[in-house]
Amino acid sequence: MKLIDKNLYYVGGVVRDEILGLESFDIDLCYEGNAIDFAQTLDVIKTNSDFGTVRVVVEDKEIDIASTRCESYPKKGHLPVVNNIGCSLKEDLSRRDFTINALAKNTVSGEIVDFFDGLGDLKNKKLKVLHDKSFIDDPSRIIRGLKFAIRFDFELDRETKKLQDEYLANINYDMSYHRIKKELKETFNLNSYNAYEKFVNENIYKLLGENQTPKKIDSRVEELIKRYNPESVWLIYMGLYDLSNFELTTSEKSIVEAYEKVCNLKFNTDYDVYKAFEEIPLEAVLMYGISINYDVAINYLESISKIKIEICGDDLQDLGIKPGKVYKEIFDYILRKKIETPSLDKKDEINLVREKYL
Ligand code: ATP
Repeated sequence: MKLIDKNLYYVGGVVRDEILGLESFDIDLCYEGNAIDFAQTLDVIKTNSDFGTVRVVVEDKEIDIASTRCESYPKKGHLPVVNNIGCSLKEDLSRRDFTINALAKNTVSGEIVDFFDGLGDLKNKKLKVLHDKSFIDDPSRIIRGLKFAIRFDFELDRETKKLQDEYLANINYDMSYHRIKKELKETFNLNSYNAYEKFVNENIYKLLGENQTPKKIDSRVEELIKRYNPESVWLIYMGLYDLSNFELTTSEKSIVEAYEKVCNLKFNTDYDVYKAFEEIPLEAVLMYGISINYDVAINYLESISKIKIEICGDDLQDLGIKPGKVYKEIFDYILRKKIETPSLDKKDEINLVREKYL
């Protein structure tokens, strides 16, 4: 059974992606009217009457259906307030970010509904906001614009670029940083140096908060990330900035703190590098590489970090050294020697212990 109704529409990204010939991440359905009433005869598993949304199961698949709704922004830059559930499809589409995301497709007739020439903008590869106050209402749309520009190789339409410049020259910092973070993650998880250049050149970095300064990074960042495959890609780019406006998870915090600790260190020897990087997250090493010294980070990842000493506690006992604090000191001494001369084998290590400790 397919979920169809003459008032039911595919909306947003799914329509855009189908026209672009791309696979969609998720399918958004919108019912012109009240979706909760519409779903009464279906297998409903969850409803949210404040937003007029409902989750149903069709052929073992969970599908979300939203009611058409109007939104307003009484507090600019913060979450909108829903004013009218069950409004017209046109009103619903007019609250969206860009014309290419304000398309709908009827589930029965397959007709594309296009009130704002989203089809024209898709063809011309343009990102155009629906009204002049769009970025004032929700500045996270600026980062969404950057994300779509990179994903689809689109450009901001001239007027939209002007609105973006105007907003960035006069930011209202009292905004929802939660939304900004979500979009930053999605954008910089794309691992695009090009996105980063636009972020800096177009002053989008100013959205991170007051008194930020743009940071220069090494253009080899993309290949570095591809080679080492870290989990938090976005943070390698964004962690260079002051993120105090954002709520970070424990692991995100530990990455940022580790980077802050190492970014001002001066290294005299490879052993210093080893000791500074050995227990910090990979992301922090990569951040050091793109912002402070690429060669030092690569040297650590490719060779220094792979150096391991071969002797163990049993070997020290065999030499007659009693277990105790001294073991750590010995292992550290051998490690230092091995980093200086990686060709040392186990016999050499034992000889070094003999020379110094027996
Ligand atoms: P993706 O492929 O990244 O999922 P998407 O367009 O589906 O792209 P979503 O974040 O899932 O993006 O949002 C779904 C739809 O909701 C968008 O297509 C757009 O119409 C609308 N939308 C999302 N975020 C905003 C926003 N900040 N302001 C206005 N409309 C938005």
